[in-house]
Amino acid sequence: MMTEHEFEPTVTHATLKQIIDNVPMPCILRDAECTMLHHNKAAANMFACEADETDFTGEYEELSPPFQPDGSPSMRKYLVLMRHILEQGQPIKLEWLYCRRDKELIPTEVTLMRVEVGGEPHVLEFLQDLRESYQARLAEREVKQRLQVMMDSCPVTCGIVDAHFNVLEVNNVVMSLFGILNKQTFLDRFFELSPEYQPDGQLSRRKALDKLKQAFEAGRVHYEWLHQSIYGEQIPCEVTLVRVQLSEQNMAIIYIHDLREIKKSIEMMEKMESIAYTDELTGLFSRRYFVENATAALERAKANKEPFHLIMADLDHFKAVNDTYGHPIGDEVLKITAKRMTGVTRQGSIIARYGGEEFIVMLTGMSHDAALKTAQRIQKSMEESAITIKGMSLNVTVSLGIASHSDPTESLDDIVHKADVALYGAKRTGRNKVMEYENAKDLKW
Ligand code: GH3
Ligand code: MG
Ligand code: MG
Repeated sequence: MMTEHEFEPTVTHATLKQIIDNVPMPCILRDAECTMLHHNKAAANMFACEADETDFTGEYEELSPPFQPDGSPSMRKYLVLMRHILEQGQPIKLEWLYCRRDKELIPTEVTLMRVEVGGEPHVLEFLQDLRESYQARLAEREVKQRLQVMMDSCPVTCGIVDAHFNVLEVNNVVMSLFGILNKQTFLDRFFELSPEYQPDGQLSRRKALDKLKQAFEAGRVHYEWLHQSIYGEQIPCEVTLVRVQLSEQNMAIIYIHDLREIKKSIEMMEKMESIAYTDELTGLFSRRYFVENATAALERAKANKEPFHLIMADLDHFKAVNDTYGHPIGDEVLKITAKRMTGVTRQGSIIARYGGEEFIVMLTGMSHDAALKTAQRIQKSMEESAITIKGMSLNVTVSLGIASHSDPTESLDDIVHKADVALYGAKRTGRNKVMEYENAKDLKW
């Protein structure tokens, strides 16, 4: 039974032929026995017949290959379809493989429609040559296959996102990045793999779409992104979006770079640097830190014509401390010496362990007299109170040499050398004292 929406056209042969001749697409009229009664020029062209040739009507069987791509015999399949359309009356659309006279195969999209002509059921067949769109589809499939190969061989996670940031494709690396068992989990739960907000306070979804917009405008965009595993573990990443045209649409290739390892190595490097800059035993600055910073400070002092002083300090007869009490006690003495030096030296000075039991102090922004007083305070801090370790009382003294920057051509090494000369002077003239370079330089040994 027919519903009121369907209508069955009833026309005369003449009108129908006129309609067929004026339809821009290939069109064929058949009777209920499947015999071709009429066709238009477009149909003749499609089958490589002369434009005015009308008698390919008898060659119906030759216009299809013996079998259709699904394996069914063309003739039988066609008759089934015809019976169906004649009985049901509703138009149907299907793909059909035709074969031209020159034996070229033509994939077509066929629309079959029942019409009543002169009271008899007929079938109108509209054809659309699919060769071009087939080619386009094949080319597109090839592009996609190439892309997939490239993505699968890419060592970082990468995929394709559409203009709404839906992920269409992704490579296998994604599984190790997120600790998931298959790619589908990633595609299905993509939006769960970022926290709601990024560390900069932006809504993740909003930020992602903004970045995508930027990539569409600029061609490429690069940014830090916080992902998370499905168990909520944070995964700091770096994301690159590159604009591409696929299926005539703006899309982007997304590369997701796992920063966890890099972040770990940066932390490690920072830790190593801080180790290199501090002396583990005393907690004072290291010699390396001293050299780097004092060099810069000396340049500033020269430029600003400000004073710059160095104090070299060396424990007296320290070997005897080690020999008498043992190396660990010697270590404790070094730690306590460091504390006492720090306690009597103005903040902002650099106090570093220069060697075994040798220390160096850099003083800026103060007069030579004030620097000399600092050196004397260090000397007194050791002389005036014994060091108590494990109930033992040790008297340890220190000798110090002090030198100030005086000549604009002087390097840090030159001033260190002067302080060393002064320290040597202090040692040679009795130890447990401070000597200034000016007084030490002319001493005869
Ligand atoms: P002087 O008054 O001439 O400086 O005599 P000294 O014994 O202090 O000088 P010397 O250079 O002969 O000896 C320095 C000693 O410092 C030798 C070494 O075993 C000791 N020493 C160096 N570094 C350390 C350390 O880290 N811990 C301990 N316990 N001893 C150290
Ligand atoms: Mg020494
Ligand atoms: Mg010594």
